[in-house]
Amino acid sequence: MENAMLITQKLLKYAKLKNVCFTILMLKMCFVFSQKKVIVIDVGHGGKDTGAIGIHNIQEKEVVLNVAKEILRLNKKLFDNELDIYLTRYRDTLISLSDRSRLAKVLSADVFVSLHCNASPNTSKGMEVYVHNNDNSNTKSSIELGLSILNESTQNLGFKMRGAKFANFQVLREAGNYPAVLVEMGYITNTDEADYFTNPKNVKAMALAILIGIANYLNVGI
Ligand SMILES: [Zn+2]
Repeated sequence: MENAMLITQKLLKYAKLKNVCFTILMLKMCFVFSQKKVIVIDVGHGGKDTGAIGIHNIQEKEVVLNVAKEILRLNKKLFDNELDIYLTRYRDTLISLSDRSRLAKVLSADVFVSLHCNASPNTSKGMEVYVHNNDNSNTKSSIELGLSILNESTQNLGFKMRGAKFANFQVLREAGNYPAVLVEMGYITNTDEADYFTNPKNVKAMALAILIGIANYLNVGI
């Protein structure tokens, strides 16, 4: 276990290097040493990397940031910050894939959840989660985490369940010693699912489902 001083120094270095919101990190540091579970929500893409562009020119980088911010807000408003949640980005900025995993390692994350939206040239729809395709000590827990999020979302929001799959995504490959999943929250190239994310109430519903899915996996009563 690294001592508190070392973790503090690493966080400060990360904040300086990566232009992330320094104030938020400073505030969050007060809680790093508590017993709360540490969740890193990786907000996919950002800045010049728009991610997928869907119906009505909806951009993946905006959808995932909206959902992630709502997860933060709900954790505070409904659950009194029961979980200690960090985002890899808090605004429209590009963070390298390596730095996303690096942040989770520095924070000794209990869980890493990367948020994305899917795209397809056809009418594909539904939600799926990805786990790294190399079998390791966190594979089983990653699948459990992914299914917990997927079950909560598809059962409550009506999205088609596409299941848990394996892939060699960098943020999963470079994960530290924590369960890590990448969530594809639906197809923004599908009219129904693109429309879904344009409604703030739906963004809130998706955020709540993901938050409860994480909490259920961790056996945290929120
Ligand atoms: Zn993506």
